[in-house]
Amino acid sequence: DRRPIRRALVSVYDKTGLLELATALDAVGVEIVSTGSTAARIREAGLAVVDAAEVTGFPEMLDGRVKTLHPRIHAGILADLRSEDHAAQLAAQDIAPFDLVVVNLYPFEETVAAGGTFDEIIEKIDIGGPSMVRGAAKNFASVAVVCDVEDYARAARAAGGGGFTLAERQELATIAFTRTAQYDAAISDWMLARLDEQAADAETADAEAAAQAGGEDAYLLEMSDEEAAEAGLRTLRYGENPHQRARVAVIDDDAPGLAGAEQLGGKAMSYNNYVDADAAVRAAFDHDLPCVVVMKHNNPCGIAVAGEADDIALAHARAHGTDPVSAYGGVIAANRPVTLAMAEQVKPVFTEVILAPGYDEAALELLRTKKNLRILQIAERPREGVEIRQIWGGSLIQDADALQADGDDPSTWTLAAGEAADEATLADLAFAWRSIRAVKSNAILLAHDGAAVGIGMGQVNRLDSCRLAVQRANTLGEHGEGEDAPERARGAVAASDAFFPFADGLEILLEAGVRAVVQPGGSIRDDEVIEAARAAGVTMYLTGTRHFAH
Ligand code: 5GP
Repeated sequence: DRRPIRRALVSVYDKTGLLELATALDAVGVEIVSTGSTAARIREAGLAVVDAAEVTGFPEMLDGRVKTLHPRIHAGILADLRSEDHAAQLAAQDIAPFDLVVVNLYPFEETVAAGGTFDEIIEKIDIGGPSMVRGAAKNFASVAVVCDVEDYARAARAAGGGGFTLAERQELATIAFTRTAQYDAAISDWMLARLDEQAADAETADAEAAAQAGGEDAYLLEMSDEEAAEAGLRTLRYGENPHQRARVAVIDDDAPGLAGAEQLGGKAMSYNNYVDADAAVRAAFDHDLPCVVVMKHNNPCGIAVAGEADDIALAHARAHGTDPVSAYGGVIAANRPVTLAMAEQVKPVFTEVILAPGYDEAALELLRTKKNLRILQIAERPREGVEIRQIWGGSLIQDADALQADGDDPSTWTLAAGEAADEATLADLAFAWRSIRAVKSNAILLAHDGAAVGIGMGQVNRLDSCRLAVQRANTLGEHGEGEDAPERARGAVAASDAFFPFADGLEILLEAGVRAVVQPGGSIRDDEVIEAARAAGVTMYLTGTRHFAH
């Protein structure tokens, strides 16, 4: 079962041992068909060689991608010469069969290992070589295949000794398939690694795009309304302004707070409604006495308690009276259920939102007649907790200001000037101090009889906050400006969210007739400030703690 070797196809990338083999084949009269640089080497050595292009009648093309991929080559490799029919078909096309195929492949693995570029590596994927190797290996009945330089010596001996036996050809075929399997596995490993790499790159690119488009959280607005709903997000009409998309997230269904509060009437809550409602509810529940807060743009424009009377309507009337002008379009929060009496007071005032822990039936019925008024039922807001505020590239995390400082208890206050306050005055000071937590800095709050009467908020110096508090106390209120305008600052008490850096702000309050002041103290000019109060005969308490709200 030996098959003599008369015609060999030789196409090798690694030229090691090539000339020894070619010389041996040539010496026993084997016709050598070869490609490109292999043929050139053999020819240079003075040996006879036929170019594959001459066999195919087709030039090597596409930079060597197509050299031997031609029926005149592959039919010569694949013809089963045990079959007379195959032999006849070859003869009909004037194709001579190959008895030996010697091929080693483009160095794909070596190029990867050497860190070749993507294109270099792709170019080292041998196509024609494995096709010849596999064709010859499949057809080991007729053809011997050699793809390992180690086997050249065997091939040289076989050529001179009547050819390989069938068993040898089968063994060579097995070596060949093992080689092409390894080769393709190396290619697929490399391709898979590229896929992983590309996926990682794409992820990075996506993340970068997201970061550019509005941070890691942009997806919260990108997802569809349905997806958002599934994720516990409710889509709002728009954000702080109409060009801003917005959603509200309910973090804990069991403790829905404001985000998941039950709405008993009115239009859908807006982004700004939520912001003001949150501040309003927080301010109302800062107080233990029945309290109503009217919020505008995140500042209270009215805040009052009912004193010892369990009368939320009274608290509302007083809170509305702080600044009836600004109460228009406000957000009202009560820390007690809303009574019919309160609802009757609310009804004539254009109000965006009302929030309370409950509503008397008649009160709810009346409020519902105002179609646009958003009516929310809320649980008591827990005072403790953690606040998170977003900043560029991170978050600020702090304990919520829940009036938990030592100085928030009036029994800890230090009397710095004037006489100790009587019970009613001390109650007003305590109310003012409790209320100022909700006012944006710099904050000055004037109070009388359990109600704010003048609030100076959000000014960039304390002097202006004092002026504003006095001006608002004396021009707003039930009678408004003009000759009848109440001098509500006179006889009021004042709270300042932080110390007076100079006596000038305090002096404005003193001139307006404020009779008692509570403030943190701690300024390097405390002496001057305290002296001004003493000179005016005004009571001043120091808390030693402050309530900035920025
Ligand atoms: P050459 O000696 O032709 O310059 O290069 C020999 C290499 O070409 C061998 O590794 C062989 O596997 C490969 N080869 C032979 N024919 C083809 C073909 O048609 N296409 C490709 N891509 N490689 C081939």
